[in-house]
Amino acid sequence: MKTIRTEEMNWQDIQEAIQKGYKTLVVAVGSIEQHGPHLPTITDTLIGDSLVNEIVKKIGNALQGPTIRIGCSKHHLSFPGTITLSTETFKAVVTDYAESVTKHGFENLVFIPSHGGNFVALEEVINDLKKKLTDVEIFGYTDLYGFLDILTSYSIEAGKTQEEAGAHAGENETSLMLALAEELVMKDRLIPGFIEKFTEKEVEIIFEKGMKALTDNGVLGDPRRASAKDGKIYFEKLADFLATEVSKMIN
Ligand SMILES: [Zn+2]
Repeated sequence: MKTIRTEEMNWQDIQEAIQKGYKTLVVAVGSIEQHGPHLPTITDTLIGDSLVNEIVKKIGNALQGPTIRIGCSKHHLSFPGTITLSTETFKAVVTDYAESVTKHGFENLVFIPSHGGNFVALEEVINDLKKKLTDVEIFGYTDLYGFLDILTSYSIEAGKTQEEAGAHAGENETSLMLALAEELVMKDRLIPGFIEKFTEKEVEIIFEKGMKALTDNGVLGDPRRASAKDGKIYFEKLADFLATEVSKMIN
């Protein structure tokens, strides 16, 4: 096959692929939101789209569905460029997406969120859909801390502090973007943001009052020591981990 992305294929090739055993569709669920002065608003969507492409190649017999580009980003709205869906709309988009997919013979539909704000809503809507849809098995990787653990464990290995690696547009996300789309990173604007301990209290502040309550420039972490080399390693570790998790789900 020339491509594993259904959006680049025609319906006949998709049908043929399903008949040949490509029974799993994997979909990234990203966001369009501010990522500090140095990263583009497409960051989460771009990382998720690239990750899912790699996951699909690793698990085999699977195709990549169109990435859901806009997610739940209400807490970033005070920064220009952020576009958000309400939780209700987000769940409706995922529901309609899943209902469309049930018509064509896929056996498994897997959603992979690449933006923290999507995890809870995605888990809730998937649980609803599990009861509702009978023709296709629906899954999601919705353990935010499992996802973050993979990033953190490599940050520590690479000699970076957790505060620096950051929860948003810090060292790890910037490294990922340097590896995936270096031309979109503004290297002359790598400025630290909130670099204190990031605990449940900070998460609460962000979701209640918005990102500006914690960081003026929209960054949680310090991107200055980010590198494409480390970004490639973060990417491989995430892709390996998620491919294993997806294989476990569907088998
Ligand atoms: Zn992000």
